Amino acid sequence: MDIKSGHPSPVMTDSPQISNSRLTVRQSRPPHSSSSSQNNNLLLTVPRKKTGIIDDVKANAWFDAMIASSPTPALVNKDNDATTDMTYREWTQVKYPSALTTFEKIMSVAKGKRIALFLDYDGTLSPIVEEPDAAYMSTDMRTAVQNVAKYFPTAIISGRSRDKVYEFVGLSELYYAGSHGMDIMSPAGESLYHKHLTRTVSINEQFQGKDVNLFQTASEFLPMIDKVLCSLVESTKDIKGVKVEDNRFCISVHYRNVEDKNWKLVAQCVDDVIKTYPKLRLTHGRKVLEIRPVIDWDKGKALTFLLESLGLNNCEDVLPIYVGDDRTDEDAFKVLRDGPNYGYGVLVSAMPKVSNAFYSLRDPSEVMEFLKALVTWKRSLG
Ligand SMILES: [Mg+2]
Repeated sequence: MDIKSGHPSPVMTDSPQISNSRLTVRQSRPPHSSSSSQNNNLLLTVPRKKTGIIDDVKANAWFDAMIASSPTPALVNKDNDATTDMTYREWTQVKYPSALTTFEKIMSVAKGKRIALFLDYDGTLSPIVEEPDAAYMSTDMRTAVQNVAKYFPTAIISGRSRDKVYEFVGLSELYYAGSHGMDIMSPAGESLYHKHLTRTVSINEQFQGKDVNLFQTASEFLPMIDKVLCSLVESTKDIKGVKVEDNRFCISVHYRNVEDKNWKLVAQCVDDVIKTYPKLRLTHGRKVLEIRPVIDWDKGKALTFLLESLGLNNCEDVLPIYVGDDRTDEDAFKVLRDGPNYGYGVLVSAMPKVSNAFYSLRDPSEVMEFLKALVTWKRSLG
């Protein structure tokens, strides 16, 4: 199959679940007004919100989105019944084929091309766990990532802070993009480059004793993020189960361990804090509210940036593959679907979803099998 000719499955339109319809942007005045030409280029153009919308309405909308993006245990159990299993099988057969069962087909496209691999972390390399700080990847998975990185340039792109995701993965030969791509680090000795930026934001820094190159698109937001982080910790401290995670350039408010009846309270607390910060926006993940700067940068932009840095941007003989499970990964899937850096998005999901990905894998164990298969395939080429 010629990747540029499209996927055999129907082209899917974004469902409400993955569209920007629940993207809440607080925008009462022009966004970021930095003198930095770099960040001016990254301003996210968003419609000005209508006035007169009371905060309760916003919080209720967030609450509805929280329900929709975070099925309750009862719903999850229901999803495991035989009917859903059948629906899942149909989903993988018709719309988003398993990247394992169609592996040979994918490799027939990859033949003669250079593969670049991009991996989300939570829910992709590690299982989703109750305690975000305990989302460890298995030793076998680490070995699989290490092996695949010997043959293909490999990057981890995560919503976590770069430091945190590095701590989990622990492989210095990889590229890391933390904070949804706003904090990118090269392997030691490698450089980072972006032709569209008019001033360099690359920083040479020592990281764990090694010289690395950093690219940070939102560094001037750090004081604001720190302030909001403190406010969120304070305002949610009495809600049992809430965890406010410092992801450096963004903040995650996890409500996985919060009783359902208190989810609305979480939404209200977050709304109360960030309503005075028009330069911040809120997005919904899996039982997490994420607050980040209003700049035109996401995992898709980070993917393109990394391809440029690797000298693989807009090359006919390059096949980027991005594996991820999160709504934020859809930005990267879309980049690969729309081109010019055509490639394959692989959605990790045990439930049918609408996605910009081409293929699917059920869970991290299947991701590991896929990584191993890539290594076996590459070795077989001699
Ligand atoms: Mg994830």
